[in-house]
Amino acid sequence: MSKIENDFFFIRKITKQCMFSFVFVCVSSIIFSCLPDSIKGKEKENLWVKFEQNMQNINKDRNKTEKIELFADSLQEIEEARNYTADYEEKVSFKTYHKTTKKEWNKKLGSQYIRIKKSGKEEVLGYLENRYMDSQIVLNLRLEHELGNLDDVITFVENGKELEGEREKSKKVENYVLTQSYQDYAEEKSIRISFQMKNVYAYELYQDKEYIYIAYREPREVYKNIVVVDVGHGGKDTGTYAMAGNWKEKDFNLDFARKIADVWESEDVHLYFTRLQDINIDLDERVNFANAMDADLFVSVHCNSSDEDSGEGLEVLYKTNKFAQESKKLAEKCLEELVSVTGMDRRNLLNGNNIHIIRNANMPTVLLELGFLTDKEDIAFLLKEENREKMAKAICKSILDYIN
Ligand SMILES: [Zn+2]
Repeated sequence: MSKIENDFFFIRKITKQCMFSFVFVCVSSIIFSCLPDSIKGKEKENLWVKFEQNMQNINKDRNKTEKIELFADSLQEIEEARNYTADYEEKVSFKTYHKTTKKEWNKKLGSQYIRIKKSGKEEVLGYLENRYMDSQIVLNLRLEHELGNLDDVITFVENGKELEGEREKSKKVENYVLTQSYQDYAEEKSIRISFQMKNVYAYELYQDKEYIYIAYREPREVYKNIVVVDVGHGGKDTGTYAMAGNWKEKDFNLDFARKIADVWESEDVHLYFTRLQDINIDLDERVNFANAMDADLFVSVHCNSSDEDSGEGLEVLYKTNKFAQESKKLAEKCLEELVSVTGMDRRNLLNGNNIHIIRNANMPTVLLELGFLTDKEDIAFLLKEENREKMAKAICKSILDYIN
């Protein structure tokens, strides 16, 4: 063979081998990719743990609730924890803890979340406070190891992409700030990171060995129905005064709201409250919030008063400029249910259109006047906690009856 022929033969041989290897790699990778994950050994089972996010209990400044959060490696451990916490008087509820594959996990996490890198691999105790209307969420963590510089450990993921080095371009997160950090008696560090979001979202808190995740979605993607409960007055706006006791109207309204939040059980229908603290909120803010949330219902909670000693009992105002029929139907349901559990006087259903929030809401709207604080009998009834509890349950039932 000549040198040229020899070279040619060699090149052909190499090319053939390359081609063969290439085809082999292609075919085998196709076959491999078609295999189920379980055979590939890729499917690593992990126990992803979801934090309990018991929003109702967090904002109770009057009735402080100790948050109990547990991390477990097995379902048995969770069961033990459940028995342990049953001793506590406070309501402690667990979300489902279960094993999930990476694929399921990615689905759960969604395409937008805030990711926080942990320093150690140990489980971190934590919970999320949702500040409702002001779109602020506060992440509370107890750490054995410090997180390090927040800017280095926090990553925003939006539309499935990490916004690395260009976080100011975030369409969802305005900013974040370390609001509190202290060492406690157990030498653990507690920190609070406050995130100002550009909108109100539905949040879920998760963690795995490396990260803590705050996943967020549009409330409409998560909940079938949304109800905004407006909690009348608050802060320097006290509302009307009671004849007896030290309570003002704002206190009764807030107590009703907290009780509603506590007894609410439906997961399909989500309640947003305009306040769960003693704070003052502008009327426009309240109704704009309900409209921006595209709520299915808007229910405002108040108590009544009259100048003379003439007023007593329950009345409900409803919207008539739009959604008049629906509003009236809801108003009727609420009134009937409340009268039947309280035995209080049944006053009329009233056209509430001269009230700013009712007139400007874009959904069926009612305003509940839950008794006269100026009436001796009404106030005696309202001052009993079990009565207020009954009324809160009646409101929940009316809302659910109307929706279903
Ligand atoms: Zn009022």
